[in-house]
Amino acid sequence: MILRYYADSDVREWHDHTLRLFRTLYDTHGIAVEIDRIDEQHGPITDFPGEIRYSTPEEVYERDLKRNRALNQTIDQTPSEAFKRYRKLDIAGNVAVVDDEGTVQWASTLPGYADGYRPGAASQTAMDFLEDIATDPSNRLCVECLSLLDGDETFCPNCGYEFP
Ligand SMILES: [Zn+2]
Repeated sequence: MILRYYADSDVREWHDHTLRLFRTLYDTHGIAVEIDRIDEQHGPITDFPGEIRYSTPEEVYERDLKRNRALNQTIDQTPSEAFKRYRKLDIAGNVAVVDDEGTVQWASTLPGYADGYRPGAASQTAMDFLEDIATDPSNRLCVECLSLLDGDETFCPNCGYEFP
């Protein structure tokens, strides 16, 4: 599994914090990280512990999100509803959990923090997700194997890791 950042967030602070949290997750949990840079806004990214690719929103939408059945089950809207605003692709700033086959299993559908969105948005925002999994114990993602969790497990059903 790998964590993927569709860069850049519009907001510089979110972008910098995402890069910091990705580094933390890589350093402390050995989680593989990578970036698809689809909207370059904030200058060069240096000292990043994973691959950085340059893509377009159309490329990542076709490859990762469009008609993705696994993703359809883990997010509230369909991918086309979630990542298109007024018929224009709106993906930059989101993060995704990608399995070993390259399938996106979950992705945030809102960049930034839940503040400013309707109640309940924290389960959909990129920053809340990253801060949650960077702060042990996470009830959304097993930090050992990156399996998605329901939130009430005491150990990971995939790898057996017991949550502290
Ligand atoms: Zn696990």
